[in-house]
Amino acid sequence: MEIKKGIAVSPGISIAKSLIIDSEDYRIPRRSIKPSQRMIEVQRARNAFRAAADELTRLEADQKIEQQKIKDIFAVHLRFLRDRSLRKKITDLIHSESVTAEYAVSVTLREIASNFTRVKDAYISERAADIYDIERRLLRQLLGSKREDVEHLTEEVTIVARELSPTQTAGFNKKFVKGLATDAGGRTSHTAIVARSLGIPAVVALEDLTEIIRGGDIVIIDGNRGIVIVNPDEGTIRQYEEYSREFLEFEHRLDTIREKPAVTRDGTKITLWGNIEFPDEAEIVLQRGGEGIGLYRTEFLYLNRPSEPTEAEHYEAYAETVDVFKHRPVIIRTVDLGADKYTQSRRFAPEPNPFLGLRSIRFCLQNLMMFKTQLRAILRASVLGDIRIMFPLITNIQELMQAKMILRDVMEDLDEESINYNKDIEIGIMVETPSAALMASTLARDVNFFSIGTNDLTQYTLAVDRGNELVSTLYSSVDPAVLRLIRTVIQDAYKAQIDLSVCGEMASEPEYVMLLLGMGVRTISLAPPMIPEVKQIIRSVTMTDCNNLARKILGMNSERQIASFLRNATRKILPEAF
Ligand code: PEP
Ligand code: MG
Repeated sequence: MEIKKGIAVSPGISIAKSLIIDSEDYRIPRRSIKPSQRMIEVQRARNAFRAAADELTRLEADQKIEQQKIKDIFAVHLRFLRDRSLRKKITDLIHSESVTAEYAVSVTLREIASNFTRVKDAYISERAADIYDIERRLLRQLLGSKREDVEHLTEEVTIVARELSPTQTAGFNKKFVKGLATDAGGRTSHTAIVARSLGIPAVVALEDLTEIIRGGDIVIIDGNRGIVIVNPDEGTIRQYEEYSREFLEFEHRLDTIREKPAVTRDGTKITLWGNIEFPDEAEIVLQRGGEGIGLYRTEFLYLNRPSEPTEAEHYEAYAETVDVFKHRPVIIRTVDLGADKYTQSRRFAPEPNPFLGLRSIRFCLQNLMMFKTQLRAILRASVLGDIRIMFPLITNIQELMQAKMILRDVMEDLDEESINYNKDIEIGIMVETPSAALMASTLARDVNFFSIGTNDLTQYTLAVDRGNELVSTLYSSVDPAVLRLIRTVIQDAYKAQIDLSVCGEMASEPEYVMLLLGMGVRTISLAPPMIPEVKQIIRSVTMTDCNNLARKILGMNSERQIASFLRNATRKILPEAF
């Protein structure tokens, strides 16, 4: 049994076999086996060679490969996989060193590859890449990490990976994927956000989990405490089964407050909206007691597919969402592609600093056809309900002006075509950069609402990559610097009399709810599974408590002190959440 501590990013408990995926850059640790296990490992290695060769042959046949060059590559790989002396080298290593099949495969092939790279002849040295490719193919067999496994699951699994992209995570079948654990990642990485939206327990930043786990190992994911247990003993499994039952009961109890309003004990009404990535989540928001959609991350329409969505596809997605919330706000955020989403994998040369690069509204303003297609669809759908438009990652007034000008162009096109749309559609921006927060009073003159995106605001204010586990302890939305910016934005929105909500993950954290209310926030948009818990807190506190708490917090200058103060205050109100 091995216990690993990471960052809890999506609540819940799961117990299931592991499936290791996406380990394109395998680092196989040396693991000794008992002499009695050697024959099993030898057989595993043989099976892997056979399966890899079959896979390659199938691939060749399926794709009806015509290009001679590709045929040659396949032929070289097959020759290697059928090479007896190579297999013998590997099985000899298993016997002589008592190591696992994956370790023997990795060491042997890497040695061959490194010998190739030393050869002066370019043709031979380039063959090293083929050897690494063969290594990966064999390891995929040994570690049970074929991509198809994820797409055609037939049993419950825990997905374990070095890191997962938001796209991969979004594609998981919730029926079978019971838990997620990754070496990399942070609390507000998009993968974590998707896991939370899907309601799959997840722990990230486990550093070397993929090195100590093997495909098929039983894993417990404790998404509440950020703990992962590999090959738990009987006692631990029983303990966790009990804990999981208690947690489900707690969640079930919270479900009963669905119909009740989010009102503090002294009568202040708080509006709770849901954040969604896919239209079918709107129904979940409704079920969990949400009163509208405060953030629809539409870039997810672009992921998991080879081509851009058409105007009709955009329109259908928005119509489906607004159909659930006919007379309630549905805030459609225009595509926030770039950084960790979509664009890097499609670029010839990746950007050196994608989070500071061509991302979000900047990407849209340089891809006008794409941007206009989405705006047309939003405007056309605007007659179906209370749809509002929100521009992400605004950093200055020119960007906002440009985005609004393009929106006006699209409106004119629709006018010319006599297509109906809501001419008074509300326009807002995400305040998620320090520059926007500092310029909030100016920006407020040209918009109907602000939504504070604390995920990016925290990352850009503290200069901490939100997805990087190496600096995750520095990432905190209750750092006094971040809180000061949030306070500025709230005050400026209030002065300008425009609407304000908070839609970053901070709003999904029970510990931060009282603080947000005390700072003046009255509308919160959060991950759907967290709505009942946050509502329960709102219904348990008074605004006087919240105001006093916020006053105290804003007088503190240490993040640690603030975080621990908030934890203790919330623990008193909702101990079950801890
Ligand atoms: C944010 O940055 O806080 C936000 C809500 O947007 P996203 O998480 O999609 O970047
Ligand atoms: Mg953001």
